[in-house]
Formats: sequence, C-alpha cells, structure tokens
Amino acid sequence: MNYDFFSPQQIHFGWERFNEVGQLAASLGTRALIISGSRSLEANGVIHDLQRLLSRANVTSELIRTVSNEPLVSDVDLTTNILHHSGIRAGDFVIGIGGGSGIDLAKACAAMVTNRESDSVLDYLEGVGRGLSLTQAPLPMLAIPTTAGTGSEATKNAVISNHSPAFKKSLRANQMIPDLVLCDPKLSCSVPPHITAQTGMDTITQLLESYISSRAKPIPQALCLQGLKLALPALAEAVEDGDSRSSRENMSHAALLSGIALANSGLGMAHGVAPALGIHCNIPHGLACAVMLPATLKTNLSVRQKEYAEITRFISPELSFDETDAAQYLIDQIQALNNRIKIPCTLSELGVTHSQIPDLVASSRGNSMSGNPREISDEELTHILEDLL
Ligand code: NAD
Repeated sequence: MNYDFFSPQQIHFGWERFNEVGQLAASLGTRALIISGSRSLEANGVIHDLQRLLSRANVTSELIRTVSNEPLVSDVDLTTNILHHSGIRAGDFVIGIGGGSGIDLAKACAAMVTNRESDSVLDYLEGVGRGLSLTQAPLPMLAIPTTAGTGSEATKNAVISNHSPAFKKSLRANQMIPDLVLCDPKLSCSVPPHITAQTGMDTITQLLESYISSRAKPIPQALCLQGLKLALPALAEAVEDGDSRSSRENMSHAALLSGIALANSGLGMAHGVAPALGIHCNIPHGLACAVMLPATLKTNLSVRQKEYAEITRFISPELSFDETDAAQYLIDQIQALNNRIKIPCTLSELGVTHSQIPDLVASSRGNSMSGNPREISDEELTHILEDLL
C-alpha cells in the first residue's frame, strides 16, 4: 500500500454552526475578502449575517463580488483585479461562500492574487494557455458551502470555463485546498428542489466515481461508502422536503466526503463528459453528471462488478444477492433515484444534438476521464453519447 492523502486542515460541520463564523474567521486573519456564489445569499440575508458575525469578532470584511454562474476566465481575472486593487496586506484572507461556482471563484482568486506572473488565470489552467504553475501560496481561505453538491470546499482545484475558445478546465494545486471549512447544512435549505436534485446527484456521482476510479485509495474509498450510505436515501427526501433537517445534514456531509474523496482519488467518465456538456450545451454541472451516471456505471460494470456489489452490500446489508445481482441492483437504484427526482434520461431532452457529439468527445479528455477504470476510445464514447440522445 502506498498513497498520499490531502484534506482541509480544519472542518467544522454542524447545523447552525454558521453562528461560529466570526471566531473561526478571526483565526485566519483580520480582514475577510468575501466572494459569494449566489445572489440568493444576498437576498435572503446570509451575506448580511456573515458580515455582522465577522464584525462582532473584530474582523473587517468587504464583499468583493457575487456571481450566480459557473465562473469564467473573465470572472476570475476581473475579481482578482478587484482584490489586487483593494491593497492586499498581512492579515487578509478570502471567504468563499456559495455552491461550487462561488467557492471555485474564491479559490482561483485567492491563488491568482498572490501569483502575478500572468494577469490571466488562463495561463495557469490545465492544458490551455502558457502552462504556468502556482509558485506562491494562495491567500488563506475559509470555504462555506451552501449547496450540497461539488465538495469544492475540500478539493484542490477550481473549475473555470471559457466561451471562446470553448473549454472548462481546472486550476489545480495542493495549496488550493481551503484552510478552513465551515459546513452548516441549514444554509442549503433555501436551495430550490431542482438544484437540490442536480447538485445532490453530483455528490453521488463523485462518491461512486472516486470509489471505482483507477486511482482509488483506501481512505477515500471508506469515505465514499459512508457518503453513499448517507446520500442515497437522503437525496429524494431533500428534494421533496427542503426543510428536512436530517436529509439536508446527510447530503451536506456526503458532499463534503465526496470532495475529500475526489481530491485524492480522481473521478471517471461522467465527470469527464460533464464539462463538455457544460461548455458546449450550457448544461449545469450537476445535471450533466446525473444524466451521465447510469451510462457510466453500465460502461464500467465489466471491470468494477466487485466494487458495485461491495457498495450495495454496505448500504443494504439485509439484501442477500450474489455479486452479479448486487452490482446490477446498484445501477437500478441510481436509475430509479434519477427518475424519482425528475432527472431526464436522455441528452436530447437537454437540447443536445447529434452534430455536437464530435465536440463533446473532443472536450471530454480532461483529468477526470483519466481516472475512469477502463480506457474509453473516442469511437466508444461517440456510441455511448449517441445512445443517450
Ligand atoms: P452553483 O454553485 O453553480 O449553484 C447553483 C445555483 O444555486 C446557482 O444559481 C446559485 O446561485 C444557487 N445557490 C447556491 N446556494 C444557494 C442557496 N443556499 N440557496 C439558494 N440558491 C443557492 O452549483 P454547484 O453545483 O454547487 O457548483 C457547480 C460548479 O462547481 C461547476 O462549475 C462545476 O464544474 C464546479 N465543480 C467544482 C468542483 C471542485 O472540486 N472544485 C467539483 C465539482 C464541480
């Protein structure tokens, strides 16, 4: 056995623990630069409460920027510029609050403001630009997730999109894992049902893909089993009753575990194709993962039947299936969950057309696809996507 394991230095998890944000923030510095990923958080008073709680702990704060979209290169460059001109000084730190979009924007800006070899994040993204690496530590960062989805609060990358040329790529470095995570599941109660469904399926996809990844490791696998045991029964309930404390807690915890898992083990085909669906077809990340997940599980069944059966037996020990049936049961459960929470079965329902498939295949070859447990040729991926139309 031989592995490395990375995670945030501190994780503070619990219902209504947002109230502790002041004292936690004060351990990072004296001025909080807030980057928020949802206008809803301004409208429902969460950002106001954040600034009030910080002030009570003698931490000054500035709301730098709010975005409600998956962050673009231009968002990162503009926001980094605002940070830069705010006069960065000792004691400054970043708070990223929101879904994966807001936290990724915050992570990218915290890194870019201390790494000034280029004034565009484009030059630091994987596989595009000048291929620069981060040489300086990012500003310290506190991540506060408000969706239960990406687990970005615990990962070492930020996903950044661009329209022309079209790509969705990561800025990635071990130092980008947020220093502190404050995860209060109550913050996710205001997420509407369809976004709860989509982001929750992202969590479930991450847990499954990390468990079966070609780079799977023992600690993340243990976390994946725990996360799946929490998330599989909880997601439909969180969608159908957004105020259910236990389902929101279970989904937020599962999302956090999924982030730790993916940061250490990588992902697979669903997460390989999802950025391509995002950038070429404008499909939100979680929805893209959800639609791709059943096909991903079927595609990998021949090499991961044992692992699928392990998952079924861990989640439902009362079932006495042989390995083949236990593996198939997992795939059936995922399809049934998708149906129950109204995730479409086909890509054509999301507006994807036949003519887009070559671009989708070409844009699916990122870091995530490299974790898929078996090689998938362009020809096979083309057939998989055609079957999903
Ligand atoms: P999101 O952050 O885009 O949020 C989805 C929607 O929910 C937005 O409209 C947002 O305004 C709203 N919202 C967020 N919190 C809310 C709340 N508490 N109440 C009401 N509305 C709220 O969605 P996401 O799925 O969390 O993040 C997606 C992004 O994360 C994508 O860009 C994806 O590629 C990226 N991602 C990153 C990682 C990583 O490790 N860095 C992993 C997976 C995905």
